Amino acid sequence: MLKINKDLCNGCKICTKVCPFGAMKMVDEKAEATEECTLCGACVKTCPENAITIERRRVDPSKFKDYKGVWVLAEQVEGQLRNVSLELLSKGRELAEQLGEPLCAILLGHEVAGLTDTLAAHGADIVYISDQKRLAEYTTDAYTDVISALILTEKPNVVLIGATANGRDLGPRIAARLRLGLTADCTGLSIDDKRQLVQTRPAFGGNIMASILSPYTRPQMATVRPNVFKPPEPNPSHKAEIRTVDIKVNPAAVRTKIVETIKTGEEGELKVEEAEMVVSCGRGIKGPENIPTVAELAKELNAALGGSRPIVDAGWMEHHQQVGQSGRTISPRLYIACGISGAIQHLVGVAGSAEIIIAINSDPEAPIFTVSDYGIVGDLHKIIPALVKELKRVKAQK
Ligand SMILES: Cc1cc2nc3c(=O)[nH]c(=O)nc-3n(C[C@H](O)[C@H](O)[C@H](O)COP(=O)(O)OP(=O)(O)OC[C@H]3O[C@@H](n4cnc5c(N)ncnc54)[C@H](O)[C@@H]3O)c2cc1C
Repeated sequence: MLKINKDLCNGCKICTKVCPFGAMKMVDEKAEATEECTLCGACVKTCPENAITIERRRVDPSKFKDYKGVWVLAEQVEGQLRNVSLELLSKGRELAEQLGEPLCAILLGHEVAGLTDTLAAHGADIVYISDQKRLAEYTTDAYTDVISALILTEKPNVVLIGATANGRDLGPRIAARLRLGLTADCTGLSIDDKRQLVQTRPAFGGNIMASILSPYTRPQMATVRPNVFKPPEPNPSHKAEIRTVDIKVNPAAVRTKIVETIKTGEEGELKVEEAEMVVSCGRGIKGPENIPTVAELAKELNAALGGSRPIVDAGWMEHHQQVGQSGRTISPRLYIACGISGAIQHLVGVAGSAEIIIAINSDPEAPIFTVSDYGIVGDLHKIIPALVKELKRVKAQK
């Protein structure tokens, strides 16, 4: 929390001017922080009287050794494990081995015991399972209560959560409840020579990669983008110890109720984050009337149809189809970018993970060509129909 020493404060108002959140005000000629304060520290650095300090909760470093285990939230929806949980088990295994600690999965839900074998086969040494009717569907309160209580008793060293819609909701809640650090939306994880978790994520609009540590609190928590790591090959002979969690959800503590679930996308529509092939279009398609041309190419290839942000912002495609930093991260075997310039915010969603990238762009200098395996310079309105025609011809021959 922010502490202001009123005896030292000289009422100079510098802090009110430097605060980027407008969270400092003057009361009786002394500085005071409002609820908008994010503890960014701008005022601390600029106060000429050193009257402002931030008091952070710290775990005594000598107690770090009490925290053991790399935990992965095994997120399931309607009894199906999310792929990102398996991806995290893969990375978690690597981290656990480096630390010499067990890899654990936390599984919450109702009638989900059948998933424990899958978690074991994907590398979990221990599976913590909380099977209750009140956990059948994700609610922030119920999941936060159970996982926070479990963390307090079991003291893991690392907690990893998929940066799905639910994970992005849950991670910060747990971190705030337990007053822990959290790095959101990581794209890289490693262990440094001081056995700390190095959490890497794009910062400043994707222009730099920031490596973030949690030196003061344990466990070290991160949410991680789907499709960044490859899921491990399952090994059915790998068994896990199953630990039943005896923490009951207090119904009075759950403030939300799922009234209706509306699924995005059409029935049977391939999802960009899951498809083996993705064809995306950008502003180069000029108008929504040209989307069917690109969609036909996607259909011929049995690929998912995606788009860049301007296409989604214009309402020509749904948000779940957006590829990039503020959309989905994808890892297809083949990515075809049609009329997409290759801005960094688009590329962070695909460039590191797609096996082959083909770009179609009329501008030979377009940045997308610097990351493409194959580039076609020309008008997509001519090239795509020609590709579709050729695909149809080859298929007909077969
Ligand atoms: C915080 C932040 C987050 C963002 N998140 C995302 C994100 O998640 N995903 C994303 O995509 N963007 C994102 N952006 C936006 C990003 O910076 C770019 O503005 C965007 O990716 C550009 O989209 P585009 O390539 O479709 O359009 P443009 O940059 O306008 O490129 C259009 C391309 O089409 C080509 N072209 C034009 N006509 C033809 C033709 N007839 N045939 C072939 N090629 C043609 C042009 O040469 C050009 O290269 C984000 C930006 C910010 C600031």
